[in-house]
Amino acid sequence: MSALNTRQPLATHGLLSLVIPCHNEESVIESTHDRLLQVLTKIGMRFEIIYIDDGSRDDTLARLEHIAAHDDRAHVIALARNFGQQSAMSAGLAHSHGDAVVIIDADLQDPPEVIEEMVRLWRSGIDVAYGRRRSRDGETRFKLITASLFHRLFARLVPHPIPIDTGDFKLIDRAVVDAVCALPEKRRYLRSLVSWTGFRHEPVWYDRQARTAGVTKYNVRRLLMLAADALLISSDAPVRLTWVASLTLGVIGLIAAGKACLFPVDSASISLAALVAVVGLLGSMQTAAVAIVGEYVVRTYREAQGRPAWVVRRAMNGSRRQGSAGDARAA
Ligand code: UDP
Ligand code: MG
Repeated sequence: MSALNTRQPLATHGLLSLVIPCHNEESVIESTHDRLLQVLTKIGMRFEIIYIDDGSRDDTLARLEHIAAHDDRAHVIALARNFGQQSAMSAGLAHSHGDAVVIIDADLQDPPEVIEEMVRLWRSGIDVAYGRRRSRDGETRFKLITASLFHRLFARLVPHPIPIDTGDFKLIDRAVVDAVCALPEKRRYLRSLVSWTGFRHEPVWYDRQARTAGVTKYNVRRLLMLAADALLISSDAPVRLTWVASLTLGVIGLIAAGKACLFPVDSASISLAALVAVVGLLGSMQTAAVAIVGEYVVRTYREAQGRPAWVVRRAMNGSRRQGSAGDARAA
């Protein structure tokens, strides 16, 4: 890496922001804060830790506010309800001031010690240092297989390069944060948006840990909805697939018609079951095609409504907005 590409002066004196989405994390949040402080002290940059309480119903918010009351480097943004992890992370990015921003989960599954290597890469001129999972502890076999399949399918269907086996744990340079926050769309899949911006990306390999406490917030239904949303927001491939299906059916229809002309059969020899199967298949494919178009229409309608991606109920330490409705460009 040439000296021209490095960020030494900024990286020494600059500000590092941490963005942490939290939903019902009362059992882990205090130990997370302590562990982050150890790592950040070692790194030696000035820092701010932005906790976004995403409508927790347990004691998370009270504990976060207690942390912020004793440490003015901790900022708390309390959203007015549960807006979802993607909105919570976007709110954190919009409220961050750092020259580089790290997004990390609240549950210590992503070891904070990895941030040190991310900062090292950033100092050497890399714009996005993303965590790539070498292994994943504490996940069910079902989740491991479906996540792996989804990542590989997703990477093939989105029009820009997207790294596989990665989540939201990453360090992002301010230029990339500004580019992502400037995007007008409200429904977001951040890891795809960050890849879409381009810039220089490098992986940092790590072993993902099991949760130290608490439970995952993603049941099968929520995972499926996230996967569908991610795909429909980031790619128009599903619509193109309906073309493939329609052309395939057309070719099969032509062949069948040709065969019927050349070798006419007695109508009594066509079984009713076969007829029902063909009509059922055609009907279901047509309905699926309409449903896919409908999914895009619904998302277009939601974007046209222009509702903000999150609403802030209250904020503590350093935030310029109190009780505001924000979009990703709010900062
Ligand atoms: N989270 C959130 N809002 C939600 C769901 C999750 O802010 O609606 C946070 C959660 O507190 C955690 C991170 O997003 O910090 C990842 O969630 P989780 O650990 O449940 O996901 P998993 O690691 O099981 O995929
Ligand atoms: Mg987790």
